[in-house]
Amino acid sequence: MQTLTPDEQKLVDHAKKAVVKYNQMRHAKGSIDTLYSFILSDSGQIHDGACLEANISHANVCGERHAIANMVMQESYAAKVKCVVVADPAPEGLERCTMPCGTCRHLIWEHGSPDTTVIGLQYIGKDGVWTFPKWEKHTIKELYPYPYEPVVWDK
Ligand SMILES: [Zn+2]
Repeated sequence: MQTLTPDEQKLVDHAKKAVVKYNQMRHAKGSIDTLYSFILSDSGQIHDGACLEANISHANVCGERHAIANMVMQESYAAKVKCVVVADPAPEGLERCTMPCGTCRHLIWEHGSPDTTVIGLQYIGKDGVWTFPKWEKHTIKELYPYPYEPVVWDK
């Protein structure tokens, strides 16, 4: 059975409160639940991100990238992702939690370390109540074992 470190637990606790708050904002404008991402940086700060769903599909931005951009702007380019939560709505209890897309795995790798942990947090929203039936945890090295690291050399 997987366990969470105290830092990871703090981030998951933050995520559960934030998912409710942000979904209430979305529902107030007639929208539906979406994917959110939350980052704990190496300085101990937390940064939030939401999937930005545009009415032009290629303009969508993943929640993980949004949270990484917030981390960089609020701290610095030297900030590192210690842990990231990906909170995704599910219609009912699904067997697996949503993991970051391939591009976001690369960006988590680039802005983290091999030991950066990725926690999928499944949530179900029903009648204005959000429950969190399941989570799973991996290191980014497990999710992205052969990173894209282009070598540049002089001619
Ligand atoms: Zn993504």
